[in-house]
Amino acid sequence: MVKVGIPRALLYYQYYPMWRRFFEGLGAEVIVSPPTTQATLASGSSRVVADTCLPVKVSCGHVLALTDKCDCIFIPALRSIKKKIYNCSKFLGLPDMTRAVIPECPPILDIDIDINKGKRRLYQAIYKLGRHFSWNPLEIRKAALAAWQAHQEYKELMVNQGLTPPRAIASISGEETTPTSPDKAAIALVGHPYLLYDELINHRLIHRLEQAGYRVLTPEMLTAQELETAITRLTGRPYWTYEEEVVGSGGHYLESGVAGVIGVVAFGCGPDSLMMDMVQRQAIKLGTTPFMSLTLEEHTAEAGVVTRLEAFLDMIQRKKRKQADICV
Ligand code: SF4
Repeated sequence: MVKVGIPRALLYYQYYPMWRRFFEGLGAEVIVSPPTTQATLASGSSRVVADTCLPVKVSCGHVLALTDKCDCIFIPALRSIKKKIYNCSKFLGLPDMTRAVIPECPPILDIDIDINKGKRRLYQAIYKLGRHFSWNPLEIRKAALAAWQAHQEYKELMVNQGLTPPRAIASISGEETTPTSPDKAAIALVGHPYLLYDELINHRLIHRLEQAGYRVLTPEMLTAQELETAITRLTGRPYWTYEEEVVGSGGHYLESGVAGVIGVVAFGCGPDSLMMDMVQRQAIKLGTTPFMSLTLEEHTAEAGVVTRLEAFLDMIQRKKRKQADICV
């Protein structure tokens, strides 16, 4: 059985159930790299130039963790998944960059996705990927349709049940997930999934907020309609794919009555520096919801994150007390 490696980084959090169903549908075994550790980050960082963004360094570390465990590694080049809305350049060249910096890497399955080139090219790309496992076009089509179905179910779990991607993945795998009480005050986290759900690089942000008694809301829990409406309100027409999870979710949560919004950005990320700035300006303009921007990099110390988080939660509590005094 062919072993396909999937790095637990970057697009993993958005597409893993779909990819897994596709490869398993074609008879392959899927192997996911273990959660990020300091060693993963250190090994990835050692392969790229210093100013590469943190998530790409983490991705290289995960590829290195898979090199001797699988026959090939799946690293798609995702250019565009919506008409005239583009991904960050790092995603466009990810398979080539990985090959260049990790020469010992097993063969890379590097499907090229660009919806602007039309559906025919998309189907050809999927078929080309499936041909690594089967020569039967009907079998590839069946696996692709099942994968699409898995993706829809995954998204529904997150939107309808308010699960984060790791919890939705755990739920799909049959593990028990404890739903958080809707009565608790909510704090929204906005940013890329590979920052929000990688517990090593964000120093267990979600866990810390839940321990402090808050319900955590994230971009994946919003519907496409909610995200689009918020983006249109803030920027008009989107240009970056990731405007949804930053501008869309930020804009939405700032007006949704949550106790606070935390914007998580990666140091060295070009798109983030523009998009999170828009969210921050909107927070200042509205002046209703406390907002904090948290920049993560490989040298970000846990103590620094904890201190900022405590200060932010104190601010939320003070605001709440002040409002209660006014009501009395
Ligand atoms: S969007 Fe930013 S953080 Fe994500 S891969 Fe691109 S540069 Fe890195």
